[in-house]
Amino acid sequence: MPEVLGVFGGTFDPLHYGHLRLAEEACAALQLSRVIWVPSGRPPHRAAPAASAAHRLQMVRLATAANTRFVVDPAEAQSDAPSYTVDTLERLRRVHGKDQPLVLLLGADAFADLGSWHRWRELTSLAHLAVASRPQHAIDPERLPAALAALWRAHRHGEAQALGRSPAGLVIPFTITALDIAATQIRQSLESGASPRYLLPDPVVDYIRAHHLYT
Ligand code: ATP
Repeated sequence: MPEVLGVFGGTFDPLHYGHLRLAEEACAALQLSRVIWVPSGRPPHRAAPAASAAHRLQMVRLATAANTRFVVDPAEAQSDAPSYTVDTLERLRRVHGKDQPLVLLLGADAFADLGSWHRWRELTSLAHLAVASRPQHAIDPERLPAALAALWRAHRHGEAQALGRSPAGLVIPFTITALDIAATQIRQSLESGASPRYLLPDPVVDYIRAHHLYT
């Protein structure tokens, strides 16, 4: 069975324990050999991040350094072009070859918004999608936009073992520990002078302080 590679994109403005647990639990639930973290440069579908791409990339590097399964892909963060996941998956597909199983990791909120992503219908031809939700909050296709519900019904698969048998094309739900942490909340805490400690790793807190981010 080939290695299965996870791909985890996000703004990570800043990275927090919700992100780290998603990646960690994805490794276990989906039998991933690695998770490739892809901090975005210029996310096209949301407001500009508060911290620069270079700072966000550095925070992801700091937080993931101790985990040998985590690797950081700096390409989006180091590019001036808008960050489109479809482009990143095309690039990773070229690097790793047509047979490599790739799994795009998404939180349930990100999945529900997928219909607004650039060329989103092509994503399942480039990678599997794994959608993380909290226990007791499974994805309900009735509550998804119609096109996304159709994608869910057509591609949904229940078994993580299936990910290694094909390079792309499945949509797999998995549950993760509920951690109700959001980067927005952390930025707001910092703006108001409150401590974000224990919501994100200490080296990232120290980095934010040293560089006077989000104040
Ligand atoms: P913001 O508050 O700025 O919108 P965020 O904390 O939601 O940021 P993103 O960088 O937008 O973080 O998220 C990257 C990915 O991580 C998305 O797929 C999102 O669904 C997921 N994610 C974010 N927060 C959590 C969390 N607390 N638990 C699980 N997944 C999360």
